[in-house]
Amino acid sequence: MTRPILLSTWSFGMQANEAGWPRLGGPDGSPLDAVEAACRRIESDAGNRTVGKGGYPDRSGQVSLDAAVMLSPARCGAAAYVRRFEHPVTIARLVMEKTPHVMLVGDGAERFAKLHGLTPADLSTEPSREGWRRWIEEHPEAAADNERGYLPPANVEQIGLDGGTSAPPHPAVPPQERLPHNRTHDTVGVLAQDAAGVPAGACSTSGMAYKVPGRVGDSPIIGHGLYVDPPAGAAVATGTGELVMGVCGSFLAVERMRHGATPAEAAEHVIRRIDASYAIRPEHQVGLIVLAPDGTWAAAALRPGFSVAVRTPDRDELVPAGWVRHP
Ligand code: ASP
Repeated sequence: MTRPILLSTWSFGMQANEAGWPRLGGPDGSPLDAVEAACRRIESDAGNRTVGKGGYPDRSGQVSLDAAVMLSPARCGAAAYVRRFEHPVTIARLVMEKTPHVMLVGDGAERFAKLHGLTPADLSTEPSREGWRRWIEEHPEAAADNERGYLPPANVEQIGLDGGTSAPPHPAVPPQERLPHNRTHDTVGVLAQDAAGVPAGACSTSGMAYKVPGRVGDSPIIGHGLYVDPPAGAAVATGTGELVMGVCGSFLAVERMRHGATPAEAAEHVIRRIDASYAIRPEHQVGLIVLAPDGTWAAAALRPGFSVAVRTPDRDELVPAGWVRHP
């Protein structure tokens, strides 16, 4: 037996854990139910600009969502480039449970969601539309270059959270998450383990602010944004997805544990590998949560400000990442 635990990324992870915790064990739930419920809570929060409805759009003004769920290598599912449904995490779960496939994207994922009774939704909100309009006005060169590349970088961090609307951050956002490198993205990533030691993971995101249309990051790609293999452990990533994808970040963390590393050593190894593999820019951030089969866990990040919401039978709190590569 292990102690049940729920770990979620960022300060909004506290709400995610609140939604997921009652589903973690007992007759009314499972670790999979818990991680799905946790992600759904954040997907439905239109005030959250980096997950689900109201997320930062791409540079054509369209919000597109990505998500994944995973129980083991043989049981995982993902949905990417979802533009008309609020809960990509539920589509990911349906892909895992109802198809022989691992991932559906775009129109196909949306047709599939509709077939399974999910209700289409408009993902944009007035603040997301207004933020985009301002951003395009301020970056005409990016708009002109829309289909060709991601230059210049999004630079939302230079001009405020809303691409120039200068809307103040939500008062609940702690100061460390207002640091420039933490502003333009943020995935809800959730790892769970029940009292029987059964793990599950899920993540959901609207990706990078003002990304090139069609861009998909690490989150819905198994082994990159999320990996769960019960005998070895689980890991989930957040931050600049492109930095995670080149090193298979979540898979790498779990493999390190398979070969004897502690969660802290595994998380640190991945962040060091990212640092060694890329020219790290000021706006880059990566955060990683790693959970071992014995219930021990750790978090590490490229830069300060990453935190983990921790829920156990006697803990419900936000904890700063334990190891940070760049001060
Ligand atoms: N990793 C996500 C992506 O690149 C965004 C984030 O977690 O900040 O799409």
